[in-house]
Amino acid sequence: MKAVQYRTVGAAPEVVEVPVPEPGPGQVLLKVTAAGLCHSDLAVMSWPGEQFPYPLPMTLGHEGVGTVAALGTGATGVAEGDDVAVYGPWGCGRCRKCAQGKENCCPHAAGLGIMPPGLGSPGALAEYMVVDSPRHLVPLNGLDPVQAAPLTDAGLTPYHAIRASLRKLVPGSTAVVIGVGGLGHLAVQLLRALTPARVVALDVSKEKLELARAVGAHETLLSDDGAAVRVRELTSGIGAEVVLDFVGVEATLAVAAASVAVAGDVTVVGIGGGTFAVGFGGGLPFEVSASAPYWGSRGELVEVLELARQGVVSSHIETFTIEDAPLAYERLHAGKISGRVVVLPHG
Ligand code: NAD
Ligand code: ZN
Ligand code: ZN
Repeated sequence: MKAVQYRTVGAAPEVVEVPVPEPGPGQVLLKVTAAGLCHSDLAVMSWPGEQFPYPLPMTLGHEGVGTVAALGTGATGVAEGDDVAVYGPWGCGRCRKCAQGKENCCPHAAGLGIMPPGLGSPGALAEYMVVDSPRHLVPLNGLDPVQAAPLTDAGLTPYHAIRASLRKLVPGSTAVVIGVGGLGHLAVQLLRALTPARVVALDVSKEKLELARAVGAHETLLSDDGAAVRVRELTSGIGAEVVLDFVGVEATLAVAAASVAVAGDVTVVGIGGGTFAVGFGGGLPFEVSASAPYWGSRGELVEVLELARQGVVSSHIETFTIEDAPLAYERLHAGKISGRVVVLPHG
């Protein structure tokens, strides 16, 4: 089968021919119908060799949707032919966090060598993939697989981030979304669907700001040194109750810190490597909370898929064949993708 692999540190991803994997005991083999590309893949492929945490070659793709093709010995709960989405942040399955479906917060996964598909384990950018357990599979129940693929991360991650701030997003409040790419364009829709807040979207690209408007942002601003001042102007000097940063570099974090209101939330989702100081005297308004959330829970994935089924959120998608996946990564790197790339491994 064809798979898109990151093979050598610093090299571009390649389409290669590998054997179709066999599901081991308790595992499930999926025929992949759709797989999304995430900016995190580009971050992973930029890490230096001495710190690279995953075995190579590695099949990429941590947003996967497929049809159950075979069950390993003892795997139950799904049947051949079921259309399912893959919950990616795999945990130990036994601890308190995992029992709550919050496998993204499992404290044992790293120690046990459990790694998400496409981020250490073989991922969804292939014709077939093995999923460690049926508990990582969520039924699509009629949802279009191409729509569903980005929701497993680009939808789930902002959903998890926004849910943590819901009580602050009351009528009259403002939410700022920095970076309207794969995650950001879904964040705008989720904010509109879940809250009465006014949504202000920031990006460096005019096309991305047009997409933000099209998916429901009330206001759009170019993301530059003056952006925080404009957020304050739009909010009568108060600032935004919630700032979600989907870039996470020094410049955007500075905008986030300067835009947030007293007792607001700054949520750093982007893994751009920036940091900002939290503490008295650090320049933040009083009572601000800062967090750097990771992916989301299995229950939240079920809920995001339900929102899509109801037509409340929809992924803006550019599709590519598996042969063209390396080109799609190049375009994502160049900022030329609107919404999310979805690769169709079987055309
Ligand atoms: P993307 O490339 O699709 O979107 C990024 C957007 O940010 C683009 O629209 C780009 O124009 C915009 N942008 C770039 N620089 C900017 C700036 N200075 N100001 C404002 N906008 C700017 O990326 P994505 O796949 O949506 O991922 C977004 C970020 O979230 C990445 O850093 C990714 O690694 C991270 N991520 C984190 C998690 C998590 O669990 N924390 C999960 C998924 C992705
Ligand atoms: Zn991702
Ligand atoms: Zn666990």
